Amino acid sequence: MLKGRTALVTGSSSGIGLATAKALAASGVQVMLHGLEGADLGEPLARGIEQEFGVRAGYVSADLSTPEGVEHLVAAAADQLGVISILVNNAGIQFTAPTRDFPVQRWDQVLAVNLSAAFHATRLALPAMEEAGWGRIINVASVHGLVGSANKAAYCAAKHGLVGLTKVVALEQAANGITVNAICPGWTDTPLLNHQIETFARDHGVSIEESRLGLLHTKTPYPSLIDPAAIGAMILFLCSDAAAAITGAALPIDGAWTAQ
Ligand code: NAD
Repeated sequence: MLKGRTALVTGSSSGIGLATAKALAASGVQVMLHGLEGADLGEPLARGIEQEFGVRAGYVSADLSTPEGVEHLVAAAADQLGVISILVNNAGIQFTAPTRDFPVQRWDQVLAVNLSAAFHATRLALPAMEEAGWGRIINVASVHGLVGSANKAAYCAAKHGLVGLTKVVALEQAANGITVNAICPGWTDTPLLNHQIETFARDHGVSIEESRLGLLHTKTPYPSLIDPAAIGAMILFLCSDAAAAITGAALPIDGAWTAQ
Protein backbone atom coordinates (compact mmCIF):
# COMPACT_ATOMS: atom_id res chain seq x y z
CA MET A 1 0.00 0.00 0.00
CA LEU A 2 2.89 2.39 0.65
CA LYS A 3 4.94 1.21 -2.33
CA GLY A 4 5.37 3.97 -4.89
CA ARG A 5 4.14 6.77 -2.63
CA THR A 6 6.34 9.83 -2.07
CA ALA A 7 7.46 11.12 1.32
CA LEU A 8 9.10 14.40 2.23
CA VAL A 9 11.02 14.09 5.49
CA THR A 10 12.37 17.43 6.70
CA GLY A 11 15.63 17.36 8.63
CA SER A 12 16.56 13.94 7.25
CA SER A 13 20.27 14.54 6.73
CA SER A 14 20.79 13.15 10.25
CA GLY A 15 19.27 11.49 13.32
CA ILE A 16 15.56 10.72 13.56
CA GLY A 17 14.80 12.10 10.09
CA LEU A 18 17.37 9.89 8.37
CA ALA A 19 16.18 6.81 10.29
CA THR A 20 12.60 7.64 9.26
CA ALA A 21 13.55 8.08 5.60
CA LYS A 22 15.23 4.67 5.66
CA ALA A 23 12.22 3.00 7.33
CA LEU A 24 9.90 4.43 4.66
CA ALA A 25 12.28 3.55 1.81
CA ALA A 26 12.46 -0.03 3.10
CA SER A 27 8.68 -0.21 2.49
CA GLY A 28 9.01 1.01 -1.09
CA VAL A 29 8.35 4.72 -0.50
CA GLN A 30 10.23 7.27 -2.61
CA VAL A 31 11.86 9.72 -0.25
CA MET A 32 12.91 13.33 -0.53
CA LEU A 33 15.64 13.95 1.98
CA HIS A 34 16.27 17.44 3.29
CA GLY A 35 18.70 19.26 5.53
CA LEU A 36 20.44 22.53 6.15
CA GLU A 37 23.67 20.97 4.93
CA GLY A 38 24.83 21.19 1.31
CA ALA A 39 24.48 18.66 -1.50
CA ASP A 40 27.96 17.29 -0.76
CA LEU A 41 26.50 15.69 2.36
CA GLY A 42 22.93 15.09 1.15
CA GLU A 43 23.41 13.64 -2.32
CA PRO A 44 25.48 10.64 -1.15
CA LEU A 45 22.77 9.90 1.45
CA ALA A 46 20.11 9.91 -1.28
CA ARG A 47 22.20 7.70 -3.60
CA GLY A 48 22.85 5.31 -0.68
CA ILE A 49 19.10 4.97 -0.03
CA GLU A 50 18.43 4.36 -3.72
CA GLN A 51 21.03 1.60 -3.82
CA GLU A 52 20.06 -0.02 -0.52
CA PHE A 53 16.28 0.01 -0.97
CA GLY A 54 15.71 0.25 -4.74
CA VAL A 55 13.51 3.36 -4.53
CA ARG A 56 13.94 6.84 -5.97
CA ALA A 57 15.40 9.37 -3.55
CA GLY A 58 16.48 13.00 -3.73
CA TYR A 59 18.00 15.66 -1.55
CA VAL A 60 17.18 19.35 -1.16
CA SER A 61 19.13 21.78 0.97
CA ALA A 62 16.93 24.50 2.46
CA ASP A 63 16.86 26.75 5.50
CA LEU A 64 13.37 26.30 6.96
CA SER A 65 13.57 29.34 9.21
CA THR A 66 11.74 31.35 6.52
CA PRO A 67 8.46 30.63 4.67
CA GLU A 68 10.39 31.00 1.40
CA GLY A 69 12.76 28.19 2.41
CA VAL A 70 9.83 25.88 3.09
CA GLU A 71 8.13 26.86 -0.18
CA HIS A 72 11.33 26.08 -2.08
CA LEU A 73 11.61 22.66 -0.40
CA VAL A 74 8.00 21.55 -0.98
CA ALA A 75 8.06 22.71 -4.62
CA ALA A 76 11.40 20.99 -5.29
CA ALA A 77 10.21 17.73 -3.68
CA ALA A 78 7.01 17.65 -5.78
CA ASP A 79 8.95 18.56 -8.96
CA GLN A 80 11.48 15.79 -8.50
CA LEU A 81 9.39 12.95 -7.05
CA GLY A 82 5.73 13.80 -7.68
CA VAL A 83 2.79 14.30 -5.30
CA ILE A 84 3.87 14.26 -1.66
CA SER A 85 1.48 11.95 0.16
CA ILE A 86 3.56 11.54 3.34
CA LEU A 87 4.93 14.62 5.08
CA VAL A 88 7.17 14.20 8.12
CA ASN A 89 7.83 17.55 9.78
CA ASN A 90 10.97 16.61 11.66
CA ALA A 91 13.59 19.37 11.30
CA GLY A 92 14.35 20.88 14.66
CA ILE A 93 16.90 22.70 16.76
CA GLN A 94 17.51 23.21 20.46
CA PHE A 95 18.81 26.13 22.50
CA THR A 96 18.91 26.27 26.29
CA ALA A 97 19.02 29.33 28.57
CA PRO A 98 17.01 30.71 31.50
CA THR A 99 13.97 32.58 30.20
CA ARG A 100 15.08 36.00 31.50
CA ASP A 101 18.36 35.65 29.60
CA PHE A 102 17.00 33.83 26.54
CA PRO A 103 18.40 35.55 23.42
CA VAL A 104 15.47 36.98 21.43
CA GLN A 105 17.02 35.95 18.13
CA ARG A 106 17.32 32.33 19.37
CA TRP A 107 13.66 32.35 20.45
CA ASP A 108 12.61 33.49 16.97
CA GLN A 109 14.85 30.90 15.28
CA VAL A 110 13.62 27.95 17.39
CA LEU A 111 9.98 28.93 16.85
CA ALA A 112 10.56 29.37 13.11
CA VAL A 113 12.30 26.01 12.52
CA ASN A 114 10.46 23.85 15.08
CA LEU A 115 6.92 25.21 14.63
CA SER A 116 6.32 27.66 11.78
CA ALA A 117 8.11 25.47 9.22
CA ALA A 118 5.68 22.62 10.01
CA PHE A 119 2.72 24.97 9.50
CA HIS A 120 4.06 26.15 6.14
CA ALA A 121 4.93 22.65 4.88
CA THR A 122 1.50 21.39 5.98
CA ARG A 123 -0.47 24.16 4.27
CA LEU A 124 1.55 23.65 1.08
CA ALA A 125 1.24 19.84 1.05
CA LEU A 126 -2.46 19.60 1.96
CA PRO A 127 -4.09 20.55 -1.38
CA ALA A 128 -2.51 17.58 -3.23
CA MET A 129 -3.35 15.20 -0.37
CA GLU A 130 -6.96 16.41 -0.39
CA GLU A 131 -7.17 15.91 -4.14
CA ALA A 132 -5.80 12.37 -3.78
CA GLY A 133 -8.06 11.61 -0.80
CA TRP A 134 -5.12 10.17 1.13
CA GLY A 135 -2.32 11.60 3.18
CA ARG A 136 -0.19 11.17 6.25
CA ILE A 137 1.33 14.05 8.21
CA ILE A 138 3.59 13.20 11.12
CA ASN A 139 5.00 15.97 13.26
CA VAL A 140 8.08 15.06 15.28
CA ALA A 141 7.38 16.94 18.49
CA SER A 142 8.98 15.82 21.77
CA VAL A 143 8.19 14.99 25.36
CA HIS A 144 8.63 18.75 25.55
CA GLY A 145 5.37 19.03 23.62
CA LEU A 146 3.72 17.45 26.67
CA VAL A 147 5.73 18.65 29.68
CA GLY A 148 8.17 21.46 30.41
CA SER A 149 11.82 21.51 31.46
CA ALA A 150 13.73 24.46 32.88
CA ASN A 151 15.81 26.53 30.43
CA LYS A 152 13.92 25.30 27.35
CA ALA A 153 11.35 28.08 26.88
CA ALA A 154 11.54 28.28 23.09
CA TYR A 155 11.79 24.52 22.50
CA CYS A 156 8.90 23.69 24.86
CA ALA A 157 6.73 26.50 23.47
CA ALA A 158 7.40 25.36 19.90
CA LYS A 159 6.79 21.67 20.63
CA HIS A 160 3.58 22.35 22.62
CA GLY A 161 2.52 24.50 19.65
CA LEU A 162 3.30 21.66 17.26
CA VAL A 163 1.05 19.31 19.25
CA GLY A 164 -1.71 21.94 19.07
CA LEU A 165 -1.24 22.35 15.31
CA THR A 166 -1.44 18.54 14.97
CA LYS A 167 -4.83 18.41 16.70
CA VAL A 168 -6.31 21.23 14.62
CA VAL A 169 -5.24 19.85 11.23
CA ALA A 170 -6.35 16.33 12.28
CA LEU A 171 -9.84 17.66 13.00
CA GLU A 172 -9.97 19.57 9.72
CA GLN A 173 -8.85 16.54 7.68
CA ALA A 174 -10.45 13.60 9.53
CA ALA A 175 -13.08 13.05 6.83
CA ASN A 176 -10.60 13.32 3.95
CA GLY A 177 -8.42 10.21 4.40
CA ILE A 178 -5.62 12.34 5.83
CA THR A 179 -4.26 11.56 9.29
CA VAL A 180 -2.16 13.97 11.32
CA ASN A 181 -0.22 12.86 14.39
CA ALA A 182 2.62 13.99 16.62
CA ILE A 183 5.40 11.78 17.93
CA CYS A 184 6.82 12.80 21.29
CA PRO A 185 10.27 11.22 21.78
CA GLY A 186 12.31 11.34 24.93
CA TRP A 187 16.08 11.55 24.72
CA THR A 188 17.07 9.92 21.46
CA ASP A 189 20.58 9.06 20.36
CA THR A 190 21.28 11.79 17.77
CA PRO A 191 23.68 14.72 17.30
CA LEU A 192 21.00 17.10 18.67
CA LEU A 193 21.97 15.97 22.18
CA ASN A 194 25.71 16.47 21.82
CA HIS A 195 25.80 19.95 23.32
CA GLN A 196 23.69 18.95 26.34
CA ILE A 197 25.78 15.79 26.90
CA GLU A 198 29.02 17.80 26.76
CA THR A 199 27.63 20.44 29.15
CA PHE A 200 26.45 17.76 31.62
CA ALA A 201 29.90 16.07 31.49
CA ARG A 202 31.66 19.37 32.15
CA ASP A 203 29.29 20.43 34.96
CA HIS A 204 29.48 17.04 36.73
CA GLY A 205 33.12 16.19 35.99
CA VAL A 206 32.20 12.87 34.31
CA SER A 207 33.08 11.19 31.01
CA ILE A 208 30.91 11.62 27.91
CA GLU A 209 29.64 8.03 28.29
CA GLU A 210 28.71 8.63 31.95
CA SER A 211 27.11 11.90 30.95
CA ARG A 212 24.82 10.20 28.39
CA LEU A 213 23.35 8.05 31.17
CA GLY A 214 23.49 10.81 33.76
CA LEU A 215 21.46 13.15 31.56
CA LEU A 216 18.96 10.38 30.84
CA HIS A 217 18.49 9.57 34.50
CA THR A 218 17.61 13.16 35.40
CA LYS A 219 14.28 12.45 33.68
CA THR A 220 13.61 8.69 33.48
CA PRO A 221 14.86 5.36 34.87
CA TYR A 222 14.82 3.92 31.32
CA PRO A 223 18.32 2.47 30.82
CA SER A 224 19.37 3.89 27.44
CA LEU A 225 18.94 6.65 24.92
CA ILE A 226 16.22 5.81 22.39
CA ASP A 227 17.29 4.38 19.02
CA PRO A 228 16.23 6.74 16.18
CA ALA A 229 15.15 3.64 14.23
CA ALA A 230 12.41 3.07 16.84
CA ILE A 231 10.95 6.48 16.01
CA GLY A 232 11.16 5.67 12.29
CA ALA A 233 9.32 2.37 12.88
CA MET A 234 6.49 4.18 14.69
CA ILE A 235 6.20 6.72 11.88
CA LEU A 236 6.08 3.89 9.32
CA PHE A 237 3.24 2.28 11.30
CA LEU A 238 1.32 5.58 11.33
CA CYS A 239 1.52 5.55 7.52
CA SER A 240 -0.10 2.11 7.29
CA ASP A 241 -3.77 1.30 6.68
CA ALA A 242 -3.92 -0.20 10.19
CA ALA A 243 -3.33 3.29 11.58
CA ALA A 244 -6.09 4.98 9.54
CA ALA A 245 -8.09 5.82 12.68
CA ILE A 246 -5.12 7.12 14.64
CA THR A 247 -5.29 10.85 14.08
CA GLY A 248 -4.91 13.90 16.28
CA ALA A 249 -2.76 11.91 18.70
CA ALA A 250 0.45 12.91 20.46
CA LEU A 251 2.28 9.63 21.01
CA PRO A 252 5.14 9.47 23.52
CA ILE A 253 8.15 7.21 22.89
CA ASP A 254 9.97 8.28 26.01
CA GLY A 255 10.99 5.45 28.36
CA ALA A 256 8.20 6.50 30.78
CA TRP A 257 9.45 10.10 31.12
CA THR A 258 5.88 11.49 30.93
CA ALA A 259 4.42 8.65 33.03
CA GLN A 260 5.54 10.48 36.17
P1 NAD B 1 19.63 16.16 14.41
O1 NAD B 1 20.43 17.33 14.90
O2 NAD B 1 20.28 14.86 14.20
O3 NAD B 1 18.89 16.58 13.04
C1 NAD B 1 18.31 17.85 12.88
C2 NAD B 1 17.93 18.04 11.42
O4 NAD B 1 17.33 19.34 11.30
C3 NAD B 1 19.11 18.02 10.46
O5 NAD B 1 18.73 17.36 9.28
C4 NAD B 1 19.37 19.49 10.17
O6 NAD B 1 19.93 19.74 8.88
C5 NAD B 1 17.96 20.05 10.25
N1 NAD B 1 17.98 21.49 10.52
C6 NAD B 1 18.57 22.14 11.53
N2 NAD B 1 18.39 23.47 11.40
C7 NAD B 1 17.66 23.65 10.28
C8 NAD B 1 17.15 24.79 9.60
N3 NAD B 1 17.37 26.05 10.01
N4 NAD B 1 16.47 24.60 8.46
C9 NAD B 1 16.27 23.36 7.99
N5 NAD B 1 16.69 22.24 8.59
C10 NAD B 1 17.39 22.40 9.72
O7 NAD B 1 18.43 16.06 15.43
P2 NAD B 1 17.36 14.93 15.78
O8 NAD B 1 17.54 14.60 17.19
O9 NAD B 1 17.29 13.85 14.78
O10 NAD B 1 16.04 15.83 15.72
C11 NAD B 1 14.98 15.61 14.83
C12 NAD B 1 13.69 16.08 15.50
O11 NAD B 1 13.45 15.28 16.64
C13 NAD B 1 13.75 17.53 15.99
O12 NAD B 1 12.52 18.17 15.70
C14 NAD B 1 13.93 17.38 17.48
O13 NAD B 1 13.42 18.47 18.20
C15 NAD B 1 13.14 16.11 17.73
N6 NAD B 1 13.47 15.43 18.98
C16 NAD B 1 14.75 14.98 19.22
C17 NAD B 1 15.02 14.36 20.43
C18 NAD B 1 16.40 13.85 20.79
O14 NAD B 1 16.62 13.51 21.96
N7 NAD B 1 17.32 13.75 19.85
C19 NAD B 1 13.99 14.18 21.38
C20 NAD B 1 12.72 14.65 21.08
C21 NAD B 1 12.46 15.26 19.88
